[in-house]
Amino acid sequence: MKAICYNGIMDLRTETVPDPSILNSQDAIVRVTMSSVCGSDLHLLDGYVPTMREGDIIGHEFMGEVVETGPGVKKLRKGDKVVVGSILGCGECSFCQQQAWSLCDNSNPNAHIPEKLYGHAPAGIFGYSHAFGGYAGSHAEYIRVPFADNGCFKVPEGVRDESVLFCSDAFPTGFMAADMCDIRPGDIVAVWGCGGVGLMAMHSAYLLGAQLVIGIDRFPDRLEMARTKANAHVLNYEEVDVQEALKELTGGRGPDRCIDAVGMEAHSDGLDYLYDRAKQTVRLQTDRPTVLRETIIACRKGGTVSIVGVYGGLIDKFPMGAAMNKGLTLKMGQQHAQKYIPRLLDYVASGQVDPAYLLTHPMSLDKPMEGYKLFKEKKDHCLRVVFTP
Ligand SMILES: [Zn+2]
Ligand SMILES: [Zn+2]
Repeated sequence: MKAICYNGIMDLRTETVPDPSILNSQDAIVRVTMSSVCGSDLHLLDGYVPTMREGDIIGHEFMGEVVETGPGVKKLRKGDKVVVGSILGCGECSFCQQQAWSLCDNSNPNAHIPEKLYGHAPAGIFGYSHAFGGYAGSHAEYIRVPFADNGCFKVPEGVRDESVLFCSDAFPTGFMAADMCDIRPGDIVAVWGCGGVGLMAMHSAYLLGAQLVIGIDRFPDRLEMARTKANAHVLNYEEVDVQEALKELTGGRGPDRCIDAVGMEAHSDGLDYLYDRAKQTVRLQTDRPTVLRETIIACRKGGTVSIVGVYGGLIDKFPMGAAMNKGLTLKMGQQHAQKYIPRLLDYVASGQVDPAYLLTHPMSLDKPMEGYKLFKEKKDHCLRVVFTP
C-alpha cells in the first residue's frame, strides 16, 4: 500500500510499504478514507519529538471503513464506516475505567522510553514516535487499529464524512480543553490559538455555558474564522496588547478560564520569544512556552488555565509565582478520545457544531511535503490539509 513516511526533519516521502495485518485478536484493519494533518505532527517534522525513525508512517486523525476484524472484536463488522480516536486505550486498566483514556497503562508497548523522561508512560498514539508506542499512522491506505472496539466509533447515518472526521482528534481535544475549565454560567473564556483545536475549544466553551469566548491569534484569516464560525470576540496580538485588551473586556479582572491551544512552538513579539527561540535552537530547552506564560499572567485570580497545546520536555521562565499567588488551577493533558467522541458525534449529527469548515485542503497521499508546508506556513487560508487515500 501507499503511505506517507517520515525520513528526517521536514522530510516526508510517499512510499510503498507492506499492508497491515491483524496482530492481536482485538485489532481491526481500517481502509482510510480521510486522514488529517495536526499541529502536533509539526513537532515531529521539526524534530522536537525524539524516537522517530526513518520509514515511520505518520498521521493520527482519521476515519475510514472496517475491512477486517480480529476474533476478539465484538462491536464492529466489515463495511462499518468509522471515525477513530487518535489515542489508544485498552479499556481495562484503572485509567481507562475512569475515562482517562490517554493515560492508559496498556496501550504503549514502549513504556520504558517515556518512563525515563516522564516517570510514567502515557498511552500509545497512532503515528506519533516510538516513545508513544511506535504505531503506524493513518496517512496510508490502510491502518491497523488495536483495541478496535474502544477506539472505532460508527459514523451516524446521514452525516457527511468531513463533518465527523475531526471528532477523531481536533474536536475532542478542544472539547476537553473547555471541559477541564469547569465553566460556570457567565464565565469569560480566552483561547490562545485559532487553529483547528482552538476553534473547537471555542465552540465547546459555548456549548458548556460560557458567556463570552475570546480568540487570540495573529493570522487575520484564522481570526475571521473564530469570529464568524465560532462566534468569538477576536484579538490580533500583533495589533493589540493582549493583556490590556483582556483586562478591558473583563472589567479589569481577567478571563475566568484561559486555554492554551498552541503548545511548544508558540510565536510572539516579545523579548521572551527571542530568548526561548535561541534556547530551543541549541536544545537548552525543548519547548517555547510563550503562550503558557501569557495565559497564567492573564487569568483572573482563582481562575483555571487549561493546556491542550502539546509540550514535550522542559521549559524555563515558568511564572510559578503568578500561578501560586493568584491561586490558579492548572489542568492539562492529551485528549480522552473515547470519553468524548460519542457526545461529539451527537453534537455533529444534531447540527449544533459542524467542524467540516476546518477541512480547507483535500490532497492525495502523493503530495506530503506540499500538504505539510501549506499547513505549517498557514498559506492559502489553510486550516487543515486532509489526505484522501
Ligand atoms: Zn493531533
Ligand atoms: Zn487502559
